[in-house]
Amino acid sequence: MAASFHPANREARSIAVFGVVQGVGFRPFVVRLAEEHDLTGWVLNDAAGVRMHVEGGPDELDAFLIALNTEAPPAAVISGVEVAPARVEAHASFTIRKSEGAAAATVPISVDLPVCGDCLSEMRDPAGRRFGYPYINCTNCGPRYTVVTRLPYDRPNTTMSAWEMCEPCEREYEDPRDRRYHAQPIACPVCGPHFVLEQADGSVRGDRRAIESAAGLLARGAIVAVKGLGGYHLACDARTEAAVGALRERKFRKDKPFAVMVRDLAEARRIAHLSDDDEILLSSPGRPIVLVPAREPWALVAPDQSRIGLMLPYTPLHHLLFDAGAPAALVMTSGNRSNEPIAFRDDDARRRLGGIADAILAGERPIARRADDSVATIAATGRSILRRARGYAPAVVARLKSAQPILAVGADLKNAITLVVDGQAIVSPHIGDLEHIECLDSFDEAVHDLLGMYGLKARDVIVAHDLHPEYRSTLRALQIDGRGHVAVQHHHAHIASVLAEHAADDGLVLGLALDGTGYGTDGTIWGGEFLVGNLRTPFERAGHLSPASLPGGDAAARYPALCALGFTRGHSVALSEPPFLFPQDAMLGTQLIERGVRTHRTTSAGRLFDAAAALCGFTGRVTFEGQAAMWLEHLAEGAVNADGYPMVFENRQLDANPLLAALIADRQNGRAPAEAARAFHQGLASGLIDAAAAIATAHGLTTVALSGGVWQNRFLLERVVPGLRSLGFAVLSNVAVPVNDGGISLGQAAIAASLAPGA
Ligand code: ZN
Ligand code: ZN
Ligand code: FE
Repeated sequence: MAASFHPANREARSIAVFGVVQGVGFRPFVVRLAEEHDLTGWVLNDAAGVRMHVEGGPDELDAFLIALNTEAPPAAVISGVEVAPARVEAHASFTIRKSEGAAAATVPISVDLPVCGDCLSEMRDPAGRRFGYPYINCTNCGPRYTVVTRLPYDRPNTTMSAWEMCEPCEREYEDPRDRRYHAQPIACPVCGPHFVLEQADGSVRGDRRAIESAAGLLARGAIVAVKGLGGYHLACDARTEAAVGALRERKFRKDKPFAVMVRDLAEARRIAHLSDDDEILLSSPGRPIVLVPAREPWALVAPDQSRIGLMLPYTPLHHLLFDAGAPAALVMTSGNRSNEPIAFRDDDARRRLGGIADAILAGERPIARRADDSVATIAATGRSILRRARGYAPAVVARLKSAQPILAVGADLKNAITLVVDGQAIVSPHIGDLEHIECLDSFDEAVHDLLGMYGLKARDVIVAHDLHPEYRSTLRALQIDGRGHVAVQHHHAHIASVLAEHAADDGLVLGLALDGTGYGTDGTIWGGEFLVGNLRTPFERAGHLSPASLPGGDAAARYPALCALGFTRGHSVALSEPPFLFPQDAMLGTQLIERGVRTHRTTSAGRLFDAAAALCGFTGRVTFEGQAAMWLEHLAEGAVNADGYPMVFENRQLDANPLLAALIADRQNGRAPAEAARAFHQGLASGLIDAAAAIATAHGLTTVALSGGVWQNRFLLERVVPGLRSLGFAVLSNVAVPVNDGGISLGQAAIAASLAPGA
């Protein structure tokens, strides 16, 4: 090694690193790495990321460069490294220099991270000064996005600004060799915030006592509101039926599944069959809720589901609760009443959750902005995210060629927004369904927040929105006085989101967009669409499901029996009679259809599923979106193999009538609903594959892109994907954004980017 110090052997490099590299312990990492490789020089944060000057032996420099990428701190996300030869400056050591220039607005902020192993051991060490401290964190872990109030990411710009560091904390904060060097939320029991358990009969103070009391309450079947990273959870023992039942009742959440936080992987394995990929996803830094196959039915936690949503603890507090004896499987659901956004401000939580929770475990560190838990699963197309929020957002999910900033506002359901700045598409966390006034407020906050983070004003951005003239998101978009507006057809946006994620911008593809509702270019409701095009070429509607009548407008989406009336019009079937037994109030829809009142034309695949579910026995109303289709899928999974019902593809239409006729006949002949449900799925899968193959072949296409909420149906996806692949097609779907409407804003942004000058 000594040879490398010989001046003749010394070389120098100037290196710039881009991506999420600030506030994640990158500079101390560079110092350690340089010292390990006997290199000298300096490193600093600048407007674009991290810049360094490194000198030493050529071999050591090469090794350093490799390690820079492969050994980067867990929180860092490197998007690019630029290396240039430099003049040897003969530094004697390696130092951290003062930051240069204001941190640029475009340096991405890290997402929130789960507590790291080092902090966990320290937290469990009775001799340590952070023993049992629920706000322990370091540069490798802890909150980021949910504590930042503005950029640059510096302590005064976080919700920790009110706490002054004690001397030992400050020493760690200032020491480049410490893992808390510039860890902005650094805290300890002496100088930092604490947790308090609030109950009707008084508060329990002191972290340890508060947490132990909360764990005790949970073990005795109580409901406790627990402050997390991006909001409050409502927690209770997942195995105590009375507790889960009470939670459903008080939260007004009838059927929608609850997520469960398990103490550790061993407990997760006890509850579900986990694949290696499931375990990797569960343990990944995003710590999402992962939908996995349950070993046994969890009738109350996840009614009519074969899967259950599990997640691992991710804050120090979660671990402390389990350490203190909380039940090993806790329902952990968003702290809200049904459909409202998650409560994250303490006063709001007290007001809204007071009537639901028996006690509130409140932490003093404020949450800067709400972030729900993310939901993910391993699907036939690989890792698939269903709700993108805490631990994932905000992050760059795609690069789009646009010199101008673009704000895309998404759709009204499962709303998320996208901002394109410097060609990087940043998707906000999941916001919610905009039909709820509170979610609309949180939409406004998100727009304001995202623009503000990047130093943009409304007048700077091109605004992209859905083609639907009455969507709340559309109306909001039109109120934004931007540089211009772009309306994007819903299913076009779905498919564009896939292409943007895969940077697939050459050649045409066949997009197969299946969902519940989207406003078509002809003013009817689309949702079973075969689109040919790409990001630059307007899509051609090359095929679609056969149109059906949909009586009752929006009501049909909540009442599958109404869909069935519309979809079976012309089948002369008495749906009020056995075996269908539709309720009388549903039968009133017949009059609407006959008179053509409040009846729309639709090609929606989601509504076709609803119709089939009603024909198989789901004759009530749904209490959450997609419920009837999930019920039908669960039913199909329980049947033995059944041949698919027939579908016909002709004149650009995939006709669902033969399929429905066969389903009706089977039911009338007494075939078990489960078998009928299975034959329906099989038939639809084959029909979709045949139609896709016919269209793709006619257009000379080799790639099929799948998007839209219906693809969350695993049973369908697991048949269509291999089917298309076996015919030689490449199949793409969403990975980083949801296939459901949570991905719409990315697609809108991609299309707006392709239209913008300079694209
Ligand atoms: Zn840590
Ligand atoms: Zn301290
Ligand atoms: Fe959609």
